Amino acid sequence: MIRELTCIVCPKGCQLRVELDDNKKVLSVEGHTCKRGEAYALTECTAPKRVVTSTAPLKSGGVVPVKTNGSIPKELMFECAKLIAQTYVDDDATIGTVIIADVLGTGVDVVTTRNAKL
Ligand code: SF4
Repeated sequence: MIRELTCIVCPKGCQLRVELDDNKKVLSVEGHTCKRGEAYALTECTAPKRVVTSTAPLKSGGVVPVKTNGSIPKELMFECAKLIAQTYVDDDATIGTVIIADVLGTGVDVVTTRNAKL
């Protein structure tokens, strides 16, 4: 089976062609122009991961943008977004404040991407 992907690691967006066997084991990767693209193809076809970006509510009202500081398994994205929506952030939180440590046991933290108060 052949799977075609666009590499999302950098803006170049190389078109990748991944050959998989019947057990979804990667046999070959073509189209990448660097090792990061090959690693992306392997991960995407075996255990896809994503950075989650969202907004979290502030205790005084309003929201603050947040993101995971690393990739988490794609199947946990919805649960992560739900947790973020239920996490009220202090109004004095500054950029980079950890609002959820080790989210869902992934070893990745959810952090603010700007100061809570502008
Ligand atoms: S394969 Fe390398 S150069 Fe191409 S998009 Fe992916 S990271 Fe960028």
